[in-house]
Amino acid sequence: MLSCKQVASLASQYLDKDTSTPLNWQIRLHLLMCANCRRFVRHLKITRTLAKNIELTDNAIDTETIWKHLQEKIQQEKSKNENNHSPENKSQE
Ligand SMILES: [Zn+2]
Repeated sequence: MLSCKQVASLASQYLDKDTSTPLNWQIRLHLLMCANCRRFVRHLKITRTLAKNIELTDNAIDTETIWKHLQEKIQQEKSKNENNHSPENKSQE
């Protein structure tokens, strides 16, 4: 059984390949049981998608910067949602 720490360090590798290696199964198993790591992997996925959109050159991905962008985005979304609490706005989505 993998620890949360191991899953965290393997998460990016796990997202890279969609293969059914024993390690991936172990991670999957852990994710099934651990909401914290599920959340972590989900955030990592979003971060990586954003990273692709930000168009970084080479493999020099500055995760710190991306994470900041992501947090700003989350904050924006949050304040958007807080401002749009009326049902009319919701149904337009
Ligand atoms: Zn975990």
